[in-house]
Amino acid sequence: MGHAFSHRVDPLSGDAADGVLKMEPAKASWFFLMVAGSVLAFAGPWNPVPIAASAGLAAIGLCCGHSVGLHRLLIHGAFQAPSWLERGLVWLAVLCGLGGPLSLLRHHEVRDWAQRMPESHPWFGHAMPFFQDLWWQLVGHVSLKRAPKIQVEAWIQQDPFYRWLERYWMLQQLPLALLAYLFGGLEWLLWLVPVRVMVGLIMHQVVGHLAHNYGPCEPIPGNSVQGHNLPLVGLLSFGEGYHNNHHRHSRSARLGFGWQVDAGWMFIRVLMALGLAEQVRLPGKGA
Ligand SMILES: [Zn+2]
Ligand SMILES: [Zn+2]
Repeated sequence: MGHAFSHRVDPLSGDAADGVLKMEPAKASWFFLMVAGSVLAFAGPWNPVPIAASAGLAAIGLCCGHSVGLHRLLIHGAFQAPSWLERGLVWLAVLCGLGGPLSLLRHHEVRDWAQRMPESHPWFGHAMPFFQDLWWQLVGHVSLKRAPKIQVEAWIQQDPFYRWLERYWMLQQLPLALLAYLFGGLEWLLWLVPVRVMVGLIMHQVVGHLAHNYGPCEPIPGNSVQGHNLPLVGLLSFGEGYHNNHHRHSRSARLGFGWQVDAGWMFIRVLMALGLAEQVRLPGKGA
């Protein structure tokens, strides 16, 4: 597997190939609520200021929150940060509207486990045709006959703040929606909340599809699904598109190597300079 990390999933406890696609009503409703709000936004005026504010907030949330705080820090333990910072970044990730932190972590573990297995359902590896894959990633999931056992560390699973975020992740949009409305009315609310969340949800899955299907790849023997390195996608997804690197060095804080521009890593470098990121794992150094 290329690394010595003991994963949270017991590898032999489930069957990654035997399952059926199921709609997830809550997930689908949330997505279509965001689509409905976006349609209203697109029908209204296209003012550059709220659009730029929405794009800026999306970039900060997805880079610092989702990629660095949730994915690299909480899920993979790629570095250590003070608890207030870790929680702040995870909150920023939740503001992207992709789900609660504990369920996103569990989904990530199960997906990674399935991809490491010699056989897995095509949903786990984004192996269906593009639009079919996008649809099932956005509104459903694979229900396995034998789901694997997952063991999440108590300091994450029992953390009151993460449990609160897990329960009320959708409601985290409310303070932002209220602020946007008070500042610029309905137009600002629609661009900053539903449009930003819908674009984040779709882009997340588009990156997942591309990074598991196209581009340079050094395969890991025995894995049913491989990651690929996509320079342009990597650049635009704050490092997440260098997915072959991530498969090979899943605990590395740095996803783009050499000249691969990795905005998330730049943010971690700033945190390191400020003394806020320590024990940073890199290939050959704990990853
Ligand atoms: Zn990962
Ligand atoms: Zn992957």
